Amino acid sequence: MLTEIEGIHAVVLQVEGRQKGLLEGRYVEDLWGFFGLPEILTRDESLVGPPGLGKELRAGIPSWKRIDKLALADALGWGEISCGNTTLKRVSLTFDAGAGGLPTPAILDSLGEAGVHATFFLTGRFAESYPELVKRMAEEGHELANHSYSHPRFTEIGAEEARRQITRTEDLIRKITGLSTRPYFRFPYGARNGELVALVNREGYLSIFWTIDTLDWDASTTCEQIRSRVMRNIKPGAIILMHCGSPQEAQALPLVIRDLREMGYEPTTLTELLSDGT
Ligand SMILES: [Zn+2]
Repeated sequence: MLTEIEGIHAVVLQVEGRQKGLLEGRYVEDLWGFFGLPEILTRDESLVGPPGLGKELRAGIPSWKRIDKLALADALGWGEISCGNTTLKRVSLTFDAGAGGLPTPAILDSLGEAGVHATFFLTGRFAESYPELVKRMAEEGHELANHSYSHPRFTEIGAEEARRQITRTEDLIRKITGLSTRPYFRFPYGARNGELVALVNREGYLSIFWTIDTLDWDASTTCEQIRSRVMRNIKPGAIILMHCGSPQEAQALPLVIRDLREMGYEPTTLTELLSDGT
């Protein structure tokens, strides 16, 4: 996985020691999707970058990383989305990580065992408390997204503080994983208005709402209730809201994935959910 690439804003491609091209981009992650870098690399070319970068890139890269997220956001016209492509039987498991991280390793284990990649909306505070978990998410091919720094209600803070909340988290995640959280942002508590959606759009983020709320953050919600909420409301393109700090979610997750697959739905990252499937 890409780590320690802070400050790398361009990648030089070389073939037999000769420079074949200079790929520039804000983040190396963007380069993946944009230039189809992994495909180029499989033709035995080498990358000039931090030690191990080329080798790591060759190792199993999840297919969603080849999709150009910014082009997707442009095609969607930015704004806010609460559902993905409704023509495919795909759904997205999206985990908000704000509170505790104790159930998170079990959640990552279940995703790994099922071969599912999810999208994690991280707060900066979570990243500061659990940098190893954030690293693990990135290393295991999950998608990282932005959920503010300290989880305030954005309707109760000023525009400057709102921008600071987003930037601080982006910087933290990039420092830990080398990956950007763009272009996905989820408002804490879903508290937002048109002006705030426009603000996050200007910062380079789509506002991501949800189709199905599992209410797993509520300690009184049972594992069975989570399963039935998902299965009662499931439809193509559904964005399912879950939480990294929920022990019941950790318990329900393998069953939810099994239920979904039995009904012919495949869980994907948000990026795959928003794409046209090609
Ligand atoms: Zn939250």
